[in-house]
Amino acid sequence: MPGRRVTVAGLGVSGIPAAEVLAALGARVTVVDGGDGERHRAQAAALEALGVAVRLGDGATLPEGTELIVTSPGWKPTSELFTAAAAAGVAVWGDVELAWRLRDPGAAPWLAVTGTNGKTTTVQMLASILRAAGLRTAAVGNIGTPVLDVVLSDEPYDVLAVELSSYQLHWAPSVRPHSAAVLNLAPDHLDWHGSMAAYAADKGRIYEGNTVACVYNLADPATEALVREADVEEGCRAIGFGLGSPRPSELGVVDGILVDRAFAPERHTTAQELAEVSDVNPPAPHNIANALAAAALARAFGVAPAAVRDGLRAFRPDAHRIAHAGTVDDVTYIDDSKATNTHAAEASLAAYEHIVWIAGGLAKGAIFDELVTGAAKRLRGVVLIGADRALIGEALARHAPEVPVVDLDRTDTGAMAAAVRAARDLARPGDTVLLAPACASMDMFANYNVRGDAFAEAVRDLRAPGTGQ
Ligand code: ADP
Repeated sequence: MPGRRVTVAGLGVSGIPAAEVLAALGARVTVVDGGDGERHRAQAAALEALGVAVRLGDGATLPEGTELIVTSPGWKPTSELFTAAAAAGVAVWGDVELAWRLRDPGAAPWLAVTGTNGKTTTVQMLASILRAAGLRTAAVGNIGTPVLDVVLSDEPYDVLAVELSSYQLHWAPSVRPHSAAVLNLAPDHLDWHGSMAAYAADKGRIYEGNTVACVYNLADPATEALVREADVEEGCRAIGFGLGSPRPSELGVVDGILVDRAFAPERHTTAQELAEVSDVNPPAPHNIANALAAAALARAFGVAPAAVRDGLRAFRPDAHRIAHAGTVDDVTYIDDSKATNTHAAEASLAAYEHIVWIAGGLAKGAIFDELVTGAAKRLRGVVLIGADRALIGEALARHAPEVPVVDLDRTDTGAMAAAVRAARDLARPGDTVLLAPACASMDMFANYNVRGDAFAEAVRDLRAPGTGQ
């Protein structure tokens, strides 16, 4: 890197550490960003103190003499800067590519996870299993801790559990994980990728160069197709996971037990018991699938069955992912605010029998017909909130006209409390009130965490009414 002219695209959570690292390695760094607000200027000043040049208010023009671009994952491939880079023959790397290039070749191998939904949960389960096996590990990548931080730290790791988004994979052409899993594939972020085919191809990159196992979802043939298309190392195996009884080279479930017929020595005749379904938190079907994917990656790395069980038992899901927000008058309130797309909401709707569903927000171009058709039989009632609630309302009118719907036309701070009270009025004892919006939150809330917190607070208020309106 010394003396190399590197342009960092984006002054944000991934661009700033990238610029700092590159400068520390002796590169001549320029950060470009189209924004020019107060936050930008403060951050620019901090970087300039480190000898980094910062150009605000223009994210499109390629700085003269650029030899390499390191981009933030959010920048679209169609951005003008990249068109200019392509014309000038300048390579573009993401933060993950940079980490891979800077890592010591003998350093900890990567067990990588991608998919439309379940990535964070699966990576955390995987890290928990690896820790239970006594391995030194960290959950990194899209999950929060940048891979770059860990790659450059002095901490000696045995193996890393790496969450990779489709954006990161797009800009990471030379990453070669030990083993990798694609959990599922459903349309998402298509405005960024341009098409479903391009999105799938970027996800499929995670399998490139795998050495031991490409893990795919038996219930999602698109994930298996990506394995078939991948160029892997000699001897690398395709391993399926699913909720049924496994065949050889698969992990699955038999009589409430998670079993392995992929890495067990006697796999052609018997299955190796790993854990019980009740060891998975929470034991909802999609989460059992996540646990099987995590187990497959850990087993590919040689982890013993008992550590899989101990790691799954020790795992606690993050907030707002099917979190129990309370039980009031025999009605259970579940916060799955993280269900920001229809695919995630479908999974949590499948996990409960009688549901009062709180849904709505920013639809991001989604279509709700399939989701509503699949859940119709289990819906006791629906409370709709947010900007695009009419889209869900119309789908309900088409496919589940008998289900009562409360259409809440308010976006003020008390709206969630009103939604929860309306849901309570629709629910019967034994029912579940499920916040699984199938939409993004930004029309009413700062993010899905704030939305989930508002829900949990409203549930608390049902028990001890506060001042909310
Ligand atoms: P990601 O990191 O991919 O966004 P999370 O683990 O944070 O995934 O979960 C996101 C949402 O997707 C949650 O609402 C969760 O209930 C749902 N979800 C988790 N795993 C799956 C899965 N395997 N299939 C479908 N939905 C899932």
